[in-house]
Amino acid sequence: MKLQDKICIVTGAASGIGHAIALKYAEAGAKVAIADLAEDKAKAAAEEISAKTPGEAIAVVMDVTSEDEVNAGVNKVIDTWGGVDVLVSNAGIQIVNPIDQMAFSDWKKMLAIHLDGAFLTTKACLPYMYKQGSGAVIYMGSVHSKEASPLKSPYVTAKHGLLGLARVLAKEGAKHGVRSNVICPGFVRTSLVDKQIPEQAQELGISEEDVVKKVMLGQTVDGEFTTVEDVANVALFLAAFENNALTGQSIIASHGWCME
Ligand code: NAD
Repeated sequence: MKLQDKICIVTGAASGIGHAIALKYAEAGAKVAIADLAEDKAKAAAEEISAKTPGEAIAVVMDVTSEDEVNAGVNKVIDTWGGVDVLVSNAGIQIVNPIDQMAFSDWKKMLAIHLDGAFLTTKACLPYMYKQGSGAVIYMGSVHSKEASPLKSPYVTAKHGLLGLARVLAKEGAKHGVRSNVICPGFVRTSLVDKQIPEQAQELGISEEDVVKKVMLGQTVDGEFTTVEDVANVALFLAAFENNALTGQSIIASHGWCME
């Protein structure tokens, strides 16, 4: 599936990885909905992307944990462009704490954004994809879909869970022409990661420099962060892939931190 004129929804696209994916898709000629909680940033991103690419972009404000807001947002895309071809479920946050100190409310918030958000956006898009007999759904997992780290119990749990959702969708969606994948990035220098550096330094009792060098990049082959561009390239490849050969698979982009 080439992305020229394809209709794509990217959640969490007002910043970071989602923004880079939306830009990459619009550069390939796609129509992209910047679906995000942050209204002003989503509108600014949509204007910027529309101005500098051959594609189109609109802002769609939604909290991915709200079924009503997700359904309204997807309906806005359908009303504007008449369908949906690609969903990238990417919106996410991070809350770090050891399990014995993790507030139950934080646990539930994390699972709601990462798992409910993936489920609700998928559920809202599938009727349109099934009707047209084609579609691609990409979930933003993480190396933490495969590995565990201290302090990240709800994040690791949710990111592992996305593998299961993608595999079920691969099996259910095949007869409707719908494919699914998970992208598993290593550490990418976005606001989500910048926020964690001082938090982890304090929790682990080490310097911020050591959090970056030893905790985040210590197991890469080259000491390099994965970039938003790296992840966007994988998201373009998966969205544009022509058939079911890769459906249900997860792709790790982590500079060798995690290999399988
Ligand atoms: P980011 O903070 O730069 O962007 C996240 C975006 O999600 C923001 O624009 C935010 O407004 C939006 N968002 C948050 N909660 C939302 C909600 N309830 N509804 C709608 N939008 C919401 O973070 P990022 O690093 O670009 O992360 C994007 C995804 O990539 C997340 O799922 C994250 O877990 C995953 N990821 C990030 C890294 C990394 O190192 N940065 C690594 C692996 C996976």
